[in-house]
Amino acid sequence: MSASTAELLLSRIRDVPDYPVEGVVFKDITPLLADPEAFAALTAELAELAERYGATKIVGLEARGFILAAPVAVSAKLGFIPVRKAGKLPGATLKQGYELEYGTAEIEVHAEDLAPGDRVLVIDDVLATGGTAEASLALVRRAGAEVAGVAVLMELGFLGGRARLEPALGGAPLQAL
Ligand code: AMP
Repeated sequence: MSASTAELLLSRIRDVPDYPVEGVVFKDITPLLADPEAFAALTAELAELAERYGATKIVGLEARGFILAAPVAVSAKLGFIPVRKAGKLPGATLKQGYELEYGTAEIEVHAEDLAPGDRVLVIDDVLATGGTAEASLALVRRAGAEVAGVAVLMELGFLGGRARLEPALGGAPLQAL
């Protein structure tokens, strides 16, 4: 990615202190989504990664991952697969639980959406602790598909998500733009 594209993307991410709870700096991507030049540049970068990694399917993680991943799937001419919070998908699903700071959460994918032979690029906006991405990679593998890589707009390095994700990546790349 060129320095000017990186600068453009960074300039369209707004830090919101103490949201949704005190002590968290929320990375708000709505200014980026509202800027067609920035959104198109981000989509092009992610579509280029999909091609470079040889992805055959694009997984988006609910909810902001959907917004970023869907145009990438269209641009790369690949199918878009939603990974959703539990209870939102109507068909037969694979479910995966994961630990949160307080309690647990569960995500799901339609079982028929991923199969052996698929190479999956997982896309989300922010990698924080890595729990969500780690659970999504478990779903991809349980479906018999291969992990092509994980791509996020931002990585909050101080939370250690990259190290947590390493075993689940199994050598596949993690790219934070
Ligand atoms: P984690 O599972 O801890 O890596 O959290 C990742 C998920 O939570 C992503 O889907 C993000 O959208 C969201 N998230 C976590 N921390 C932040 C943050 N500081 N700003 C915006 N989104 C966040």
